[in-house]
Amino acid sequence: MRKIAINTIEEALQALIQGNKAFVAAQKSGSVLKEIKPIFAVDGQQPYAVVVTCSDSRVPAEYIFSAGIGDLFVIRTAGHVIGEFELGSIEYGVKYLGAKVVLVLGHNHCGAVRAAMGSHGHDYVKKILDEIIPVITGEEDVEICEKLNIENSVRRIMASDLIKNEADAGRLHIAAAKYDIESGTVEFF
Ligand SMILES: [Zn+2]
Repeated sequence: MRKIAINTIEEALQALIQGNKAFVAAQKSGSVLKEIKPIFAVDGQQPYAVVVTCSDSRVPAEYIFSAGIGDLFVIRTAGHVIGEFELGSIEYGVKYLGAKVVLVLGHNHCGAVRAAMGSHGHDYVKKILDEIIPVITGEEDVEICEKLNIENSVRRIMASDLIKNEADAGRLHIAAAKYDIESGTVEFF
């Protein structure tokens, strides 16, 4: 289990911020030790944060935050678009697992956003682009489009009454950030 208890919003945010600093400096990673795996099987999980991010293989959430087994409840879709299954997963992470922070983590060079800017896509990929296109229409700057897409994911999450109530009560913090795939740095908004 974690050596340091993480029980508050501030502790969870600091774990993410300091974890990313350690990742950028390549100083450490979270624990994946053989000994801790059976402990989680017995004690269950208490992830301190839900991370909603892109499926992009260059955006590995646990690495980015120097997190180990049992630390993060991660939801990944192309372009971190959020539908009902994703929202249900986020609610589960908050209500039943006690996550203190929900973080939407976008990134630069996002292929889903670029595809949406070009309206390319068919079959089920089109479903993803249909979620992104309305929020970036009229904008040609890719960085701004990526930010608009992050903000849209936050809006989708806040549509959950459960999440909104937890946030309003001060028991949960909704955060948004962007990952730079060249430097490894996470910039919180
Ligand atoms: Zn992406």
